[in-house]
Amino acid sequence: MDAIHDSAAAPLIEVFASIQGEGAWVGEPQVFVRLAGCPLRCSWCDTPESWVVGKNPAKVHGLKGVEEQDPWASPFIALTWILSAEPREPRTISITGGEPLMWPGFIRGLGNIKGPRRVHLETAGAHPEALASVLDMVDHVSLDLKPDQDMGPVVPLDVEGPLGERPWGEESPKSSEEWRLARRRCLALIADHDACAKLIISADRGTQDYLPLLEDLAQVAPQIPLFLQPVTPCRGISAPDPSLLTDVVEDARDLGLTVRVVPQVHKTLGIQ
Ligand code: SF4
Repeated sequence: MDAIHDSAAAPLIEVFASIQGEGAWVGEPQVFVRLAGCPLRCSWCDTPESWVVGKNPAKVHGLKGVEEQDPWASPFIALTWILSAEPREPRTISITGGEPLMWPGFIRGLGNIKGPRRVHLETAGAHPEALASVLDMVDHVSLDLKPDQDMGPVVPLDVEGPLGERPWGEESPKSSEEWRLARRRCLALIADHDACAKLIISADRGTQDYLPLLEDLAQVAPQIPLFLQPVTPCRGISAPDPSLLTDVVEDARDLGLTVRVVPQVHKTLGIQ
């Protein structure tokens, strides 16, 4: 397994201030640090541009406009971009992607120099070793529960940064059973942490597709709140019928879970 270097650079796509639109911290003003690189292929992915690593400039949405920068940024450089994006007082930093856990050294490095800012980590919940390596550096984990029916074939990251930076080498789950093991290990890690689980509900699925995910959550981390997120239609994927949402809510409640239904609020508001 890769060693973790706290100063490791990572490829960034953009840094911008906005409002958190998903999960337990919905509505919170944050600065988003979007990292490139993801070996997964969710059918409803709304950031496929993150699959391209280090080839396009990073966009830094500062108070004086958008600046294009070299995408490979050290934690220190990323912090200067965060400072330029913050409208006034320090904000929570949302580390998102892509799959940010491809770059745990960068997350640790940023955690070491972030000052008073809290750190909110978005992850697919597929890489438990990487998650374990950064958990002490993040204040909240928002972990996706992925139905394996929604996942395309894994595409391993094969990139190298200017100083030899490589993505985390942990294997991504490829089968239903591998997904189950990775999911349960990730849930065990966050069971006593500030965290939430998110489940994206899309059309053409039935409650039986989601039940194994709900059961894993109920068995491994029952106190973690669950947010059901009706998919925002994209790339041929349609929003679910309200009755499916209701049925999944009842399945979650039957298992003793705390469940909320929250659509992507930033999309509703028309903000980034
Ligand atoms: S894990 Fe995130 S970035 Fe990767 S394919 Fe899924 S939605 Fe897209």
